[in-house]
Amino acid sequence: MRALLTEKTEAGLSTTLTDLDPSELGEGNVTVRVEWSTVNYKDALALSGRGEIIKTLPLVGGIDLAGTVESSEDARFAPGDRVLVNGWDLSQTHHGGYAEKARVPANWLVPVPDAFSMRDAMAIGTAGYSAMLCVLALEHSGLTPEHGDVLVTGANGGVGSIAIALLSKLGYRVVASTGRMSEAEHLRALGAADVIDRNDLARPGRPLGPERWAGAVDAVGSHTLANVLAQTRYRGVVAACGLAQGMDLPTSMAPFILRGITLAGIDSVRAPRDLRLAAWARLATDLELPKLAAATREIGLADVPDTVAHLLRGEVRGRLVVRIP
Ligand code: NAP
Repeated sequence: MRALLTEKTEAGLSTTLTDLDPSELGEGNVTVRVEWSTVNYKDALALSGRGEIIKTLPLVGGIDLAGTVESSEDARFAPGDRVLVNGWDLSQTHHGGYAEKARVPANWLVPVPDAFSMRDAMAIGTAGYSAMLCVLALEHSGLTPEHGDVLVTGANGGVGSIAIALLSKLGYRVVASTGRMSEAEHLRALGAADVIDRNDLARPGRPLGPERWAGAVDAVGSHTLANVLAQTRYRGVVAACGLAQGMDLPTSMAPFILRGITLAGIDSVRAPRDLRLAAWARLATDLELPKLAAATREIGLADVPDTVAHLLRGEVRGRLVVRIP
C-alpha cells in the first residue's frame, strides 16, 4: 500500500511517498481503506518537525482520515461502513491518514454523517470539528445571537473559515480578524458581517479595553487572545483553540474578575466520543455545504510535503483535502 512516511534524516525530518506493508500498520481492531485525509496546522507542524508532534519515527502522518471499513473485530463496525477519525494518537505515535489503509481502535471511529460525502468529512476535518467544539463551548456558556458580535480570529484559516460559516448560519453577527484583508470578500461570502485587520489585535495591549465582543473563537493565542479577552463584554465567553501567533498568553486577571468573562479551552485530540458525536451531528445540520466547498482546495498525497510549508507561512486559504488512492 502507498503511504507518505516521515523519517528522521541528518538534515531533519523527511517525508516521502513509499510502499508500506499492511502488517506494519500497528495496533487496532478495525482496518479502514482510507479515501481522504487533510492538511491541518498540526499536520504542518508534524511534518516540518516543529512542535515535536511525531513522537515515534518513522511514522505515517495525517491527524485525520475518512474511509470505508475493510475489516472489523468490533461489533459496532462492519465492512463497508463509512467512518472518520480526528486526532487521538494519529501522527503522534500511531500511523495516520496519509496512507491507503489505517488500523485503529474502534473507539476512535466516528460514523460519517449521512449529510456528508467522505470528501466533505475531510474538508471539515479536525479544523472544522474543532470550530464546532468552539461553537458548543460558546453555547454552553449561554451565548446567543442577541448578546452581540462574535469575533473569529485566524479567519482565513481552517478553523476560522468554518467557525464563520457556522456562527453566521446560527444567526450571530460575525466579525472576522485576518492578516489578509485582500480576502475580505471571501470572508463576507462565508458569513462575516465585518472584517478587521489582525494587526489591531496582534501587539501588546492594555489589560482592559472597550467592550466589543459578546463572544469569540480564537485560533491565534498570544497577544491576540490577550487583547480579545481585554475587549470581551461583561460575562462574555471566549473559546481558545489555537496558537498560530504563539503559545504564550500575556494577559492579566482583569477580564476575569472585573468583567466575569469565561475562557473556554478547546481540545479536539482527546475529546470524549460522546462530544465528538455531538459535534459531528451539529456539523451535519449547521454547516452549509456550498460554503464548505468555497473554502476547500483538493491536493494529492504527493503534494502534501510542499503544501505544509505554504500553510506554515499563512498562505493557505481555508481547508485542504488530500485524495489518497
Ligand atoms: P490554519 O489553516 O493554518 O489557519 C491559521 C490562521 O491563523 C492563518 O490562516 C492566519 O489567518 C492566522 N495566522 C497565521 N499566522 C499568524 C500569526 N503569526 N499571527 C496571527 N494570526 C496568524 O490552521 P488551522 O488548522 O485552522 O488551525 C488554527 C490553530 O488552531 C492552530 O494553532 C492549530 O494548531 C489550532 N487547533 C487546535 C485544535 C485543538 O484541539 N485545540 C484543533 C484544531 C486546530 P489570517 O490569514 O486570516 O490572519
